[in-house]
Amino acid sequence: MKKVLVLGSTGSIGINTLNIIRSLPGQFKITALMVNTRIDLLEPQIEEFNPECVVVKEEKPAAELRKKLKGKTEVLSGVAGLSAAASECDYDIFVGAMVGSAGLAPTIQAIKRGKRVALANKETLVVAGELVTQLAELYGAEILPVDSEHSAIFQCLTGENINYVEKLILTASGGPFLNKTKADFLNVTIEEALNHPNWKMGNKVTIDSASMMNKGLEVIEAKWLFNIHQDKINVVIHPQSIIHSMVQFVDGSIKAQLGLPDMKLPIQYALTYPERLKNDYQRAYLPSIGHLTFLEPDLDKFECLKIAYSALQSGGSAPCVLNAANEIAVDKFLKGKIKFSKIPYIINKSLEKIDHHTKPDLDIIFQCDRQTREFAAGLT
Ligand code: MG
Repeated sequence: MKKVLVLGSTGSIGINTLNIIRSLPGQFKITALMVNTRIDLLEPQIEEFNPECVVVKEEKPAAELRKKLKGKTEVLSGVAGLSAAASECDYDIFVGAMVGSAGLAPTIQAIKRGKRVALANKETLVVAGELVTQLAELYGAEILPVDSEHSAIFQCLTGENINYVEKLILTASGGPFLNKTKADFLNVTIEEALNHPNWKMGNKVTIDSASMMNKGLEVIEAKWLFNIHQDKINVVIHPQSIIHSMVQFVDGSIKAQLGLPDMKLPIQYALTYPERLKNDYQRAYLPSIGHLTFLEPDLDKFECLKIAYSALQSGGSAPCVLNAANEIAVDKFLKGKIKFSKIPYIINKSLEKIDHHTKPDLDIIFQCDRQTREFAAGLT
């Protein structure tokens, strides 16, 4: 039985991970759960899965939880608690499902122990891709993608030689604003931005899908996961979200991975790889889907995707600035403080202002992240 640590067990990916583990009895044992603030959701998870260790963000609720659990489960708190649990708990698979750059430090601990990292937290590779992939190689850790596009590419590459790849083709649904104009972005509401046509995800990722920054972050993620030059990573809009991504080889052949838009599939694959376990999730019935369409993304309208390509081109700490500024901008939009159209403005201003480092170490990355957040917080 494989032991699993879930970082971010009360978010959308975390809850799906627990659903999968529940549906595959005898395959996995949860040994550690880590969450930010949703103690109300964590408590029934502790009751059901009986982990050895849990980590929550603040010490006060941690102390209350400790009292309630009476030593049955170890309770830690804060950033130090996350790192301590990742470096000391007993697990085989680390599921990195916490949104934002908070996932980076514990993910590095898991890598340094040579564990399998099922990575849903794309920020880890966006802000520190070079460092993280080098460490993974050094410590023999496997990084398996949970993001549906990267899981698709990983599945298409299985049994193939990376040198025969001509390009990776990431598919994007186009989100809720595919048919809006750039001028409409001045007036779109939070509710409209959160209304994704195909995928049920957390708020941050859903807003990133509406701005297409999500695809920009995924291009950066793909570069590091598959060790491929950014010029070989293309994005195509595919509104049905049935093809999750494709690989085109040097002979012109294209392989695609298809399925219904359900995150359980890529999560399960990252947990069970190289095996495939039978499940009872709904199957894609192609005749009822009918047709699959594709179009070029409009980089003038979806400015965030263009900015992400150029941050990747700049390299070094630029993607870290991009990510931190985007997190602040999305948070401001979700709180009703800025218009949707201001998201790329805040990111561009931050990229202009914050110093770039060509080969950042972890300390510089954290410093860059902090500086960007402080600067971006002051922009409106
Ligand atoms: Mg994705």
